Order: sequence, then structure tokens, then C-alpha cells
Amino acid sequence: MPFHVMLIPTLGCPSNCNYCWSSEEGSPIMSIETIKAVVKWLKDFRDDSVTFTFHGGEPLLAGADFYRQALPLLSEGLSERDLAFAIQTNLWKMTPEIAEIFAKYNIPIGSSLDGPEELNDFQRGKGYFEKTTKGAEIAKAHGLNVRFITTFTSHSVKYRDEIFKFNLERGQTLKLHACLPSLRGDEPEKWALDPEEYGELLVYLLDKYLENMGRIEVMNIDHLCKNVFTGRGTVCTFVDCMGDTFAIGPDGGIYPCYRFVGMPKFVMGNVHDNPSVEALAESEAWKLMHEYKEYVDRECKSCAHINYCRGGCPYNAITPNNGKIKGVDPHCVAYKRIYDEITERFNNELFGGAGMGMPGMGMSGFPGETGGSGKTSRSGIMSLMLKKI
Ligand code: SF4
Ligand code: SF4
Repeated sequence: MPFHVMLIPTLGCPSNCNYCWSSEEGSPIMSIETIKAVVKWLKDFRDDSVTFTFHGGEPLLAGADFYRQALPLLSEGLSERDLAFAIQTNLWKMTPEIAEIFAKYNIPIGSSLDGPEELNDFQRGKGYFEKTTKGAEIAKAHGLNVRFITTFTSHSVKYRDEIFKFNLERGQTLKLHACLPSLRGDEPEKWALDPEEYGELLVYLLDKYLENMGRIEVMNIDHLCKNVFTGRGTVCTFVDCMGDTFAIGPDGGIYPCYRFVGMPKFVMGNVHDNPSVEALAESEAWKLMHEYKEYVDRECKSCAHINYCRGGCPYNAITPNNGKIKGVDPHCVAYKRIYDEITERFNNELFGGAGMGMPGMGMSGFPGETGGSGKTSRSGIMSLMLKKI
């Protein structure tokens, strides 16, 4: 797991998505003094390569001046190591000025669209689709790479065909996020995707992906297949993220991950105090995250997928229980469903000799092979497993 520091310039956000759990009205904006303190802290804290992701709230609310100063401070202040930057934003506040600054650092952009305009705006608010699309156009015009995350909710999962087609037709990589219970609303479960439905959705996307090989990428399925094939997790959800991921809140508070920012009981320290690893390890939040790791070792011991699942996301597991460890990630049901499916298909293909086509090819290995039925044959799961190797 590479070292990852998430910078949260503010928890404020101009949008008002129905299921949001991470924005906070009136949140302050991170000062440049805090960025200087981050550089100083990291110099003493760890000396390996680091990826910085600006996240929120909505990180573009910090404005062009913030990035004009913060990016050189970070990259020059830590120039002795490999650095990478990324940002997750709804793009409403993207301007040519900001895009130009980001282009100098070649910053990839992650944004969010939940599907076609009507469906997206039903979940995220009227006008969202248009504002995000405009921002994406500005970013792309400056040569920036923009990818979208699709949040599937209890509502939008009913429109999975439309959502898949939307991404296929736009030539977009599909990366999905399962809507979590909101800890801030009155009806926390209203939009949350039920774990069983999440599992079925993953199997559906696996099938659609295999039917459309070479025409779309479904990032989550790529990762899941790679996890099974290599026997190791390749994204934070499926590794022990504690100790290799930190998030810095607007006031310099250090948290285990951006998802905890703004929750006082998860503060581990503050960059302005320049804490060492040993000092952070004294905090309750650090101890809790490491207790989760030990809990997973015990609870998931007999699960065939433990090495590349690792109990899922600790935030998902801990926060609905008021900061207590009472179970693993509730999405366990979904993870088991898709990991079982991938493993079974893999074994069938390996030992049964079926469906070992390469990417973009039918099972005979010829692109666009149609066979006697006139229907294009589906690629096998092995083609996905080998794709990223
Ligand atoms: S808490 Fe969850 S989202 Fe955050 S780094 Fe860990 S696995 Fe990823
Ligand atoms: S699938 Fe469930 S039981 Fe298996 S490792 Fe993941 S969280 Fe644990």
C-alpha cells in the first residue's frame, strides 16, 4: 500500500447531494500555514514516496490562490522523494485559471456523475449534471484527465441498465461507489445500497463488462479480479489501510482517512504540533484502527478471501456503531458474493477449459467472433485477470 496523504482544504460544499455524509456548512478553508506545517511534519514523519489527494467537502472552494501556493510548497518542500497529486471534486468551481495550475502538475481529476442527467440530478440536486459537465470541459480543454465515480443508491440501482449504457456510450470508465448510510441525516438508510443488492450489482457489472470487452472499463471489477489473481488487495478497501493513509483536515487535524475528518473522536494529532509516529500511536483513533486489524484476523480467519479483502473498510465497520468495533464492514455480503463468483468462474475456466478468450475477443480468441448463433460470444474471466498483469 503506497503512502497516501489526503488534504481536505474544507468540508464546505456548494452542492447538496441527498445522500452526502462528508460536507459541513461554514467549514473553514485550510490556510497556507497549514500546508507549510504538512511539509515540515512529513519531512520528520516519513521519507518514502507520497500521493497527495485533495478531497472534501469540495476542495475547489479553496480557490486558485490556495493551489498556486500549496502545490509548489508541497512539491519543492518534499522534492527529494517521488510525489503524485490527485483531486476529487464536483468541478463546479473549476476555472481556466485553476485548470492551468493543475495542468503544470498533471493532476488527474476524479469527479462524480451518477448516470444520465435526470437520474443524476434527482439524487444530487437540480443543475448538478450541467455544472459538473461544464467544469469537466474546462479541465479537459487544459489537457487534464477527468474520470467519474458513479454512486449507486437504493434508488439508482433500479436503473443499472441505463447507467451502464450511459457510461458505455460516452466511452467512460465506470467506477462505482456503493452509497453508505448517512451519519448526518434523519433517515440514514434511505439512500444506502443494501449489501445484498450491492453484491448482485457487482455480478451484473461483471457480466456486462465481459459482454462488452474492449468497449468499456469497469474499474472495480478490474481491481476485484486482480485481487483474486494476485492474492492481495490493490485498493484501500481491501488492504490494512491503517498507518499508510492519513487525512489532514482544514485546521491541520490528522485523521486515519478523509472519511473521518470532522469527527472529533477520530483526531490523532495536528500537523502544527509536528507529531511523531509514536505520538500518533498514543491516540484513541490509532488504537481503534489497529484493533480493527486484529479483529479482522480473528473474525475473518475462516473466510477464503481474507488475504485480499481484509475485512473491507474500517470506516464502514466502525462509524455506524458509534466508534465501537461490533462487526466487519457491512458490505462483507457483497464482497463474498463477487469474490465467490470470480473464484468459481476462474476455477471453471482453468480446469474446465471454458471461456479463456483474451480482451476484446470471443472465446475462440478471434475478435468479434459470433459463432453459429449470430450472437457475439462473451469473453472469459481469465481475460480480465490477465488484463492488468
Ligand atoms: S478507512 Fe476505508 S476509505 Fe479510508 S483508507 Fe481505509 S479502507 Fe479506504
Ligand atoms: S468477505 Fe467478509 S468475511 Fe471474508 S474477509 Fe471480507 S469482510 Fe471478512
